[in-house]
Amino acid sequence: MSKPFSIGVDLGGTNLRVAVVSREGEIVDRITVSSTGNVIDSLTAAIERLFSDKINGIGLAVAGLTDGKKILSSPNLPILKEIDLVSVLEGRFNTPVYLGNDASAATLGESVAGAGKDFNTFVMLTLGTGIGGGVVYNRKLLNIAGELGHIVVEPGGRLCGCGGRGCLEAYASARAMSMAAMEAIDLKRETMMTLDKNGRIMPEDIYKYAADGDPLATEIFKNAGFYLGLGIANYINIFGPDAIILTGGLIGAWDIYVKKAIKTAAAAAFKELFAKTAIIPSKLAGDAGIVGAAELTYC
Ligand SMILES: [Zn+2]
Repeated sequence: MSKPFSIGVDLGGTNLRVAVVSREGEIVDRITVSSTGNVIDSLTAAIERLFSDKINGIGLAVAGLTDGKKILSSPNLPILKEIDLVSVLEGRFNTPVYLGNDASAATLGESVAGAGKDFNTFVMLTLGTGIGGGVVYNRKLLNIAGELGHIVVEPGGRLCGCGGRGCLEAYASARAMSMAAMEAIDLKRETMMTLDKNGRIMPEDIYKYAADGDPLATEIFKNAGFYLGLGIANYINIFGPDAIILTGGLIGAWDIYVKKAIKTAAAAAFKELFAKTAIIPSKLAGDAGIVGAAELTYC
């Protein structure tokens, strides 16, 4: 018999977030600590404070590649690659410990207690500095490579962080938009936008200019939205989902960026498939990963 609560952990590069989550995906208690010091000590101490005999297990969500038991690569917290965290925590708390990729965990969380709750099949996309995501198919989280941000939308196009060219992430992510704005300003294109003292501009600033009617800023968001729409059309044609769930900082620009993506996907995807796909924002937002991590202990 499984116990009624689990501990979910979101191991981010800045914060370590630990929560007690019910079987139904409700967060009942939580602790957030900085992940800049000794991560293992901070994590163990936080779990210690929340642990009880009602805990079914511990689920960990990490950015990077995992094989379920080991972290194969973790760009934000390289230390995790050297430590067998699952064994350390299993030994310490005498409970099963599960490991998952953060995007997959967030997708699972959204499926259990968020915007995906009522859908059998959906694709979730995290739109931030990079682009990631996961797929729930017939109510099951697909255990796939799932690098949804690295499908090619522009053959021979911009170089992507993954080493490939023309990836969705290289055109529709926050980083891609900042790059596009910086290039356009360098080329002296007409705009009110200016670079900060580090020679950069953030998407939230580009968005402010777009909202004020700056044509170049608007063009940057629409262009990114166009590529996002091509990506969405591909996911719709492959999975025939009930929904595409969007999360991450960029959905704040729904009225320009996502709207353009929806228009593009409508034109590019199979009409019958597009018509049955809801394109909606996530409900759990930043908590999806922690809820999904906890859910790993029931899967
Ligand atoms: Zn890529």
